[in-house]
Amino acid sequence: MSTASLIESERLPKNASYRCIVPAGEPWLREVRKGDILRIVDLEGNQAVDTLFYNLHDFSDRYSAQDTIREQKNIYLTTGTRLMSSAGNVLLTIVADTCGRHDTLGGACATESNMVRYAIDKGHMHACRQSFLKAIAEWDHGMEKRDITSNINFFMNVPVTPEGALHFEDGVSAPGKYVELRAEMDVLALISNCPQLNNPCNAYNPTPIEVLIWDGQEA
Ligand SMILES: [Zn+2]
Repeated sequence: MSTASLIESERLPKNASYRCIVPAGEPWLREVRKGDILRIVDLEGNQAVDTLFYNLHDFSDRYSAQDTIREQKNIYLTTGTRLMSSAGNVLLTIVADTCGRHDTLGGACATESNMVRYAIDKGHMHACRQSFLKAIAEWDHGMEKRDITSNINFFMNVPVTPEGALHFEDGVSAPGKYVELRAEMDVLALISNCPQLNNPCNAYNPTPIEVLIWDGQEA
């Protein structure tokens, strides 16, 4: 992993306009305005934070893993990564990162994939896809299942081998590590703080995160 991407932020939590602890297994959804800074903190380390972003004014224009990877010619996300939308807009830019690598290939866990990957009797277990659907249903702005597309897994370690194999590994994050993003347009941020109990990426122990927002004019 390149250490060049490890950039700390000078922003102080006490100056944030919004702070929220998101328990393990819970969703979080909020509008983030152009110029605002969004920080996600891995409070206890090795947590997977499944995240989707949308153009706030057109939900059909949403985060695109494929466009983001192609634009930066790299499969990992870190400082400097511009998160691209399906319509070619820059939704947000990663401006600080003390973890160093985030995944956008592994996808979000679902009851279906839990059964395929782990065991058929895991089908009842709560998964990120349900958290996403619960959040957009409660928000009640017309989004539905088809709006849940390819996502980012902040703090998740999914290395790709030289042969192209995908590995879900132990996390590389640690308590207090964070990633910070600047909104380049008005966006909707949707997080599922992953409830997964079957994957070594979070040491089989999902933990809480903190989300902070600084207003653009004060950031
Ligand atoms: Zn998950």
